[in-house]
Order: sequence, then C-alpha cells, then structure tokens
Amino acid sequence: MSLPIPLPDEAWTHAFVARLRSRNRFYQRKLQAWPRDGARWRNLPFTTKEELLEDQSQAPPFGTLHSLPITQYVRMHQTSGSRGQPLRWLDTRESWLWMLHCWRIIFDMAGVTHRDRLFFPFSFGPFLGFWTAFEGAQQQGWFCVPGGGMTSVARWRMILDLQMTVLCCTPTYAWRLLETARAEGIDRSQGQVRALILAGEPGASIPSMRRRLEEGWGARVFDHYGMTEIGPLGMECQANPGGFHLLGSECIVEVIDPATLEPAASGQEGELIITNLGRWGSPLLRYRTGDRVVLDSEPCPCGRRWPRVRGGILGRTDDLVLIRGNNVYPSMIEAIVQQFPAIDDYRVIVTEAAGMTDLAIEMETRAAGDVERELAEAVRHAYHFRPRVTRVAQGTLPKSEMKSQRWIRRISDS
Ligand SMILES: [Zn+2]
Repeated sequence: MSLPIPLPDEAWTHAFVARLRSRNRFYQRKLQAWPRDGARWRNLPFTTKEELLEDQSQAPPFGTLHSLPITQYVRMHQTSGSRGQPLRWLDTRESWLWMLHCWRIIFDMAGVTHRDRLFFPFSFGPFLGFWTAFEGAQQQGWFCVPGGGMTSVARWRMILDLQMTVLCCTPTYAWRLLETARAEGIDRSQGQVRALILAGEPGASIPSMRRRLEEGWGARVFDHYGMTEIGPLGMECQANPGGFHLLGSECIVEVIDPATLEPAASGQEGELIITNLGRWGSPLLRYRTGDRVVLDSEPCPCGRRWPRVRGGILGRTDDLVLIRGNNVYPSMIEAIVQQFPAIDDYRVIVTEAAGMTDLAIEMETRAAGDVERELAEAVRHAYHFRPRVTRVAQGTLPKSEMKSQRWIRRISDS
C-alpha cells in the first residue's frame, strides 16, 4: 500500500482551471473543451515538453505559456537542450520569489542555517540550475560564493581558504573535485564541508555513488530534485537517506503508467507528473516530467506526509534501451560502474541497427588489471547480457561539469 496522494476535489479543480484559462493563451487553447462543471482532476489533460517546444516554434521566441503581459517577466532560463532545441522559460518576479520560497523549505530540510557557508562550484548559465538556490540563500542573509569561471584546483582553494560548509553541484562534479584533490595532492581534511546538495543527475540516490561521495568528502549527501520547467520541488530529508520528498505544499504529485496514462498501481514504478502551485507567470498543469519514480509506501521517520520518491529518480522514460530482452536504463549501468573504484570515468554507447541494439562501455582507468573483463562480467551477472568494454586513454572522454555526457545513442543504417 502506498500512502494516499491527496488530489484536489472538483471545486478546487474548477477554480484552478478557471485561473489557468483566464489569461494564459496556451491553456486557453488546451482547456477550451474542458467542462465548466463536474471537473474531475484526473480528467484534465497532461502537458508535455513536446507541446511546449512546438508552441515556442509556432510563436517564437517565448511561446504562449504566459499568464501576464510579457513586460511583467524578469527572468529567462532554458533547458540544457539535451533533446535538441532548447526550451525557453520566462518567470515573473512573483514566480521567481515562489521558487526562492521553495528553496527556503529545501534548505531547512537539509538543516542549512546562517552559520553555513555555501559554495556553488560551477558556471552559472542560462539553465535554471542553482540560480534559485543561490538567491534563496542570499534572501536568507547567508554567506554564498559563486564558483564559476575557475579551475577545479582554484575551487578547492576557495573551499579550503574560506572554510565552505555546503556545496551545491552535480554528483558528477562532486566526484570530479575529489579526483582533482587526489591528483593534485590537495589535503581535503583541512576542509569544513559537511553537506553536499546534489542535483541534475540521479547519482546522489544511487547507493554506491552516494557512499563514495560521503566517504570522500566526509559530508552528508542530499539529493535535490528540480527542473527548469517545474522549479525546485524535491529534497531529501535528514531522517531518510536515499530518496527525496516532493514539496507537498507547493505542487500536486501524481505517478502514472506512461503506457496507459492511468495512475500507477500502488507502490509501482511510473512517470512523475507535477502541477506546480506558485509559478503563475508560467504555470504547468499535470506536467509529464519523463522521470521514472516509485513512491515510498512507508511513512517517513521525519514525520512529513509529503510524497517521498524512494531511491531517487530511477531514470528517464525516454532512456529505455532494450537489450537482449532486458530493460536497461543509464542508472543501472551507473550503479554497476560505481562498484569499481578503479574506473575514473566511463561512457556508454548504445547503437541501434536493424532492430538490434548493442551496448558498449568505454572507460578510463589507471588500474593495471583486466578491469574490462570484470566490468563486462558484472553487467552480465546483473542483466544477462555482456557489453563490449574497452579501455580508452586517460582524458579521452568528454568532461562536463553539468549533465554528464555518459549515455550516447547512435542509430546506424548498416
Ligand atoms: Zn522524510
């Protein structure tokens, strides 16, 4: 049995739809045929990223998902464009302040206080990333340092010299900083970092990765969840590692079977659907995040009754690869690779040709042994297929401080 997720009643749904339709051209079109009475929440349509991209290409540059005149918008961010065309996202001042409010809750869940010193070791770009975290912490009056435009060694200097206590970055980059320390002989024990707030990849909830990060940093890992489209809405609580709560006061959470679009059965894996409740400048109704989750069926020891995603994001609905009858997701391979501390970096190449899918792994390692064979064997043991594993020279694989470019799909004509 899963804990029940409260869905809005008909009166609330009716009021919500009325507000959505009042000035927002995107939802006016989308909800045109929606009945004025008897509005059940589960009969409302989903919103997809494809629709939003299509809307922006039809009405460039910003599309029509706006509830206020365009002059009311003060921020523009965009998605990383990992699926091609970037999706632009506008926010009003009110919507922006709502996201800072979400961060106040998130920081509180991690026990961050005015005594902390927060470091953001990456270049702030047009992606939403930790912009709202930075400003949320600033709004609280806390000490924050932006760490963009510098090398990992220079960032270490700051972490140590300024006695930073909280780091916000991707799991991949938190790991890379440890590698840098090892390679450069930096004495990490001089640091004060006690918490890592990690987002952008599922790594923080993958037990092996989490363990390596916590041991390497001597700090607690917190998995944070957010998206440019929906805002910052998920955070691990202190009482229950390896998963996160969705901020039940700020959004409506659903999990559906992506094939049937029906609610996922209790405790079953499905696609996370989010309706946010405070970003009225560019709202989202039943947004299909594409993230695969299982909701925790047990009450959380922290006492919060908000939905909790068990084990973090399990993967993307669109990353599914079928190999020899196995459903394979990037997080599965990631979990196996993380069992090999000797592997410094890796990349998966999925090749689809004539109905056959092949998965190969390229890896960097300084170890002398036959790590290739051991890794291939570990995958075969877990998933009943043996990938081709090759060793590449150190520094060959593309480095990225944002989304790790570790899952390459190639369609071959031959
Ligand atoms: Zn909890």
